[in-house]
Amino acid sequence: MTPRHPLLMIPGPVEVSPSVREAYSVRPPGHLVPEVIEAFGGSLEMMRRVWLAPSSAQPFIVPGSGTTAMDLAVWNLVEPGDVVVVVNTGYFSDRAVEMIRRAGATVVDLTCVPGEVPNVSRAEGAFDDLERAGKKAKALFATHVDTSTGVRVDPEPLARLARARGALSIFDGVCATAGERFAMEAWEADVYLTASQKAIGIPAGLGLLVASERALAARDARKTPPPLSLDWNSWRTIMQAYEARKPSYFATPPTNLILALAVGLREILEEGLEARVARHARVAGALRAAWEKLELRSVPARPGIHADTLSALRFPGGVDATLVARIAERGVVVAGGLHPRIRSEYFRVGHMGYATTRIDFLMKTVEAVGAGLATFLARVDTDGALAVLLEAVQATPGSA
Ligand code: PMP
Repeated sequence: MTPRHPLLMIPGPVEVSPSVREAYSVRPPGHLVPEVIEAFGGSLEMMRRVWLAPSSAQPFIVPGSGTTAMDLAVWNLVEPGDVVVVVNTGYFSDRAVEMIRRAGATVVDLTCVPGEVPNVSRAEGAFDDLERAGKKAKALFATHVDTSTGVRVDPEPLARLARARGALSIFDGVCATAGERFAMEAWEADVYLTASQKAIGIPAGLGLLVASERALAARDARKTPPPLSLDWNSWRTIMQAYEARKPSYFATPPTNLILALAVGLREILEEGLEARVARHARVAGALRAAWEKLELRSVPARPGIHADTLSALRFPGGVDATLVARIAERGVVVAGGLHPRIRSEYFRVGHMGYATTRIDFLMKTVEAVGAGLATFLARVDTDGALAVLLEAVQATPGSA
């Protein structure tokens, strides 16, 4: 029997901290009461710090999800006739391609096999080709961590490339922000977006995005406005009012989530961004060691491109996609495959936010995966996997 509250170890939504849960679970306040105004204004300020963004950048908190945040970026920056270079690492990059095309632009789609990352030199080549043809790319788009393959791109050289070629850079950080390194100001990135339910560590329901001054100017220079509810200019004065601790209204915010967001962001900053990112890396490394003991191979094709926020693991010979249900029977929810080309060949385990502070959650997950595998295979070294997990997590100070 599956327990009533199974451990949620999918790549979002994630388990949230007790303080976040408490903040969220209050009687719904109005959007113009002082606590909500304070939480909203404080969250906008904290977002700049979590994004490592300059003071001139504008944070946006909007009702919706990661997809809404992607649409916000695309519809404000992409116009009919534009060209956008997409560094495509999987399912969510494909989604961006579809959005950019719907906004009327031409996409230079730099694809690769699932589990790989297109080289920066290919992106450079794409800009060169466009320049030779007398065209200029408006923007470069990349998915920081593609949740369908578990690969991570290095955003820094891509942001620098876009800047050098006079294009905007847009990064989808939905499965990365606050779990992977991103330095918006230092790298001169233009948009970094995410959703509330992943490494930020609160329930689903908010799209979060920070836009640079250059990106805001590009919105202002548009010939036609985006749809009203996606228009940065609909939201910007509201964000500015909340940051000045003044009530304001454009569309009703989910107030419980705003209260939870302020607590979640404060937890991130109290721990320190660097320490938090380091913990995600340490936990991911420890889990990789455990997966190896269980003879599970990763979808990411080589070291250095593994995300630290999730594991994408191929089914070994003799194991099929019913593994996910067999793991769930042991009280742990993991996710099935998502990338259309390899969907039935792998499964995914999320390790973001609060769960990365809980060695008991990590142990339970490895134990459930090992037990699930043992329903198919004669020899599964679950004890060995648990031992390497513990050892690797504790090997470095400030263990999970
Ligand atoms: N981009 C990435 C990288 C994602 O992982 C997801 C969600 N898994 C999305 C975009 C879409 O986010 P949402 O499901 O919150 O709309």
